[in-house]
Amino acid sequence: MQQAAAPKVSFVSLGCPKALVDSERIITRLRAEGYELARKHDGADLVIVNTCGFLDSAKQESLGAIGEAMAENGKVIVTGCMGAEPEQIEAAYPGVLSITGPQQYESVLDAVHRALPPVHNPHLDLVPPQGIKLTPRHYAYLKISEGCNNRCSFCIIPKLRGDLVSRQANDVLREAEKLVTAGVKELLVISQDTSAYGVDLKYAASSWKDREVRAKFFDLAKELGEFGAWVRLQYVYPYPHVDEVIGLMTEGKILPYLDIPFQHASPEILKAMKRPAAQEKTLGRIRQWREQCPDLTLRSTFIVGFPGETDSDFTYLLDWLDEAEIDRVGCFKYEPVAGAPSNALGHAVPDEIKQERWNALMARQQKISARRLKRKVGTRQQVIIDEVGPTVSKGRSKADAPEIDGAVYLSSRRPLRVGEIVTAKIERADEYDLHGSVAGF
Ligand code: SF4
Repeated sequence: MQQAAAPKVSFVSLGCPKALVDSERIITRLRAEGYELARKHDGADLVIVNTCGFLDSAKQESLGAIGEAMAENGKVIVTGCMGAEPEQIEAAYPGVLSITGPQQYESVLDAVHRALPPVHNPHLDLVPPQGIKLTPRHYAYLKISEGCNNRCSFCIIPKLRGDLVSRQANDVLREAEKLVTAGVKELLVISQDTSAYGVDLKYAASSWKDREVRAKFFDLAKELGEFGAWVRLQYVYPYPHVDEVIGLMTEGKILPYLDIPFQHASPEILKAMKRPAAQEKTLGRIRQWREQCPDLTLRSTFIVGFPGETDSDFTYLLDWLDEAEIDRVGCFKYEPVAGAPSNALGHAVPDEIKQERWNALMARQQKISARRLKRKVGTRQQVIIDEVGPTVSKGRSKADAPEIDGAVYLSSRRPLRVGEIVTAKIERADEYDLHGSVAGF
């Protein structure tokens, strides 16, 4: 009997790791129903574009991707953050088949079923039980909640994604276990506000193995640490209870790494930004964390040129950076996002000044990063291998998150495998990366 060809879907995933997790969920469901992924739009039966609507520049990129899909294929389904405000997409591309907002997996699947009904075939319906990962197999993002209870004045995420909705602890742990069993060596814990995990559930416990686990930041981090994989915490705010997880880092249960998007340091600007945990005497806390866990790596992002940012606010930020010695920094020039309350603040900072401040901050930070990396020369570090080359392989130490931080370039006497964790001797450092050789397997 001749089998019907599998319907083919081409998928474009834009935006942050949180959007990537949404894409993975949709693709997993499609694969389970027998759809195939196409490499190109023109060989596919339809295209799904998962958009990002965080900044106006991201919206432009999303519109560009939709335009490309329309031109090359013509059957296009749009989802993701930009889909929460469909007017712009409808105006530019009235022929789009369906537009849905973030996390509306069911609606996306309904739209796919309508435009391209599934073909049931037991040979096509097989999907690995842990789902399809768009990230390489050795690391995976683990999304623990959706939405956000904060109301930062420059951000429209709560408007797009709603208030915080956390997953039950046992649900997250089940997914983590499946991933580790399938070969994942590093779990990247993400959400809009990871340290607020479980607030909406009033920290209710759920059954996991022979015990009850509360839906609480510390409790979840501790349990995740039991799987033996690297566990990296991202998008954490410096609430007082964050101090507790430093102990888990010192014990080696989770990675000594915190990604805390501070965004600024000047009290006036933080207030205008309405940032969570802005009052928490952060410099003192950072000092304490490092005393307790000297290997701790801190990553952060900052915004320069926020409305009303004066020269003295900016100097305050630079001095703060010197003192905090943040290891890794990303910096953005403020962009007014349609619908964000900060647009009404007035006192816009001119573009040239934003650029000057951006340059100054990056130059200052480069020195700090380089100084901190130099201290690692001569040490031994564990490195997870991301890419294997003929003479030099590329990996990351515990201090480096994939895609955003630096890398470790390693020579080795024997061929390495992607996902392998080796011990490396660090021989040299530059501004962002380390170089060395494998000293143990
Ligand atoms: S914490 Fe602030 S910046 Fe982050 S998603 Fe929530 S409102 Fe937006």
